[in-house]
Amino acid sequence: MTSVETVRGPVAVENLGTTLTHEHLFTKNPELEQNYPHPEWDEDRFVQKAIDGLNALKAKGIDTVVDLTVPGLGRYIPRIQKVAAETEINIVVATGFYSFKDLPMFFKVNGPGLIVDRPEPLEEYFIKDITQGIADTAVKAAMIKIATDEYGITPDVDRIMRAAAVAHQETGTTITTHTHAEHFTGRDQQKFFEALGVPLEHLVIGHCGDSTDLSYLRELMDNGSTIGLDRFGMEQVLQDDQRIDMLVKLCELGYADRLTLSHDAGFFSINTPPSWRAKHAPNWHHANISDRILPALRERGVSDETIHQIMVTNAARVLVGRRP
Ligand SMILES: [Zn+2]
Repeated sequence: MTSVETVRGPVAVENLGTTLTHEHLFTKNPELEQNYPHPEWDEDRFVQKAIDGLNALKAKGIDTVVDLTVPGLGRYIPRIQKVAAETEINIVVATGFYSFKDLPMFFKVNGPGLIVDRPEPLEEYFIKDITQGIADTAVKAAMIKIATDEYGITPDVDRIMRAAAVAHQETGTTITTHTHAEHFTGRDQQKFFEALGVPLEHLVIGHCGDSTDLSYLRELMDNGSTIGLDRFGMEQVLQDDQRIDMLVKLCELGYADRLTLSHDAGFFSINTPPSWRAKHAPNWHHANISDRILPALRERGVSDETIHQIMVTNAARVLVGRRP
């Protein structure tokens, strides 16, 4: 039986069901918040909001949510465990590191050839998250997340990506990414990982739904990767109508087996707090695909079979990764 790790333990791959592959529950910044608390954050209130939100999502037919909140975005597994204990939905978590430019000071000093000369701590940390569990929680990560943005592959991002490649080679876990669509950073990611021997079919290039450049998206998929149309509702970047147009076009062109859908939404983010989202991106929430996008797709002639391929089959494939 092939299984995938979730916050409550392994789940048989055939029970993952309809899956949102790139979401967040809580995006925070613990050190900053310990010294400059955000006025909108309330631990109990937002934990309850997440429980209620995920239970509502389960009732709409979503079975699994992948939380790609890694260090750099305030990952804190005990809080996710509190939520997972009160909802039937599967929550999958990830390892990796989220930074557009720099690693924290610790990594500037600790590592091969650095002042505290030692093996690459990023490798140890990513692999331990996957094979033994995150910190002392025993919750195992099932994806590896990295980011490149408009600054490209900076020296520290290079280091994160190298460690991600090592962790992939060692565990077979799929690498999933943040990109800056306007800067086509998915291309650099493919080149980088290909050079390190990571098969491109084990890469999910994220935030491709922000792009309206068909040839860029086809190139990424023709090279073997799955892409994430993973920001439905983020209409401050691109309107959902345009996101839907591209999705329908890609299905018509035969790319349905290379797509994953999600929102990149969250119940709380310190960066774009709930009051800001309510005002500027009212459709940016975890139920947008269920409530608005899937009905629109069906209206445009996308079959239930195709929707199943994208939301169940493809999602399961990337979560299983490459097994020995
Ligand atoms: Zn994200």
